[in-house]
Amino acid sequence: MSEVLVLNKNYIAVSLTNWIRAIRLLYLDRADVIDEEYKTYSFNDWFELSQIIKENKSGFVHTPKFKIAIPEIIVLKYYDKIQLEEPRLTRKNIYENYEYRCCYCGKKFDTTKLNIDHVMPRSRGGKTEWTNVVTSCISCNLKKGNKTPAEAGMKLILSPHKPHRRVKFVLTLKSNKKIPSSWQRFVDTLYWNSELEN
Ligand SMILES: [Zn+2]
Repeated sequence: MSEVLVLNKNYIAVSLTNWIRAIRLLYLDRADVIDEEYKTYSFNDWFELSQIIKENKSGFVHTPKFKIAIPEIIVLKYYDKIQLEEPRLTRKNIYENYEYRCCYCGKKFDTTKLNIDHVMPRSRGGKTEWTNVVTSCISCNLKKGNKTPAEAGMKLILSPHKPHRRVKFVLTLKSNKKIPSSWQRFVDTLYWNSELEN
């Protein structure tokens, strides 16, 4: 059965749900249906529209007396939170955090030409954590060696820092599934909002 994308009241995607729960939220007036043009429908509006329309991408729920179109997206009326999570310290996340630049010379590099450098070397107790790892190009890396930046006479152009927390909700669809086109702009919204959030 089709899944329904759930937005919080600020139109940020927060979860997926099934049609039963979506219609229940609608009926309880805790959510509205929202379409691609940001037009919203209360339960009554949606109910009336459902009797008129012949086609609906997600299909209909039928009862002996009436039918209700299954919405693709609902927007919660009162919930405004988003769940954030700490970004994991992965190679990819580190590269992205510094936009594929060497933190010492500031130049942009291909991933194959970037290393991960411990500002305080590991051999001297430097920890593998956001505040001690940076990206570094091969030549800066060689110059720095097993020293601290000060000892090597180098300056960090980009200082080590933890990236912003990210929105936890990520669309995990099975490979044979496509994101409904109506979801697209809200998924983009999700991305942009996660960048601004802090
Ligand atoms: Zn460099």
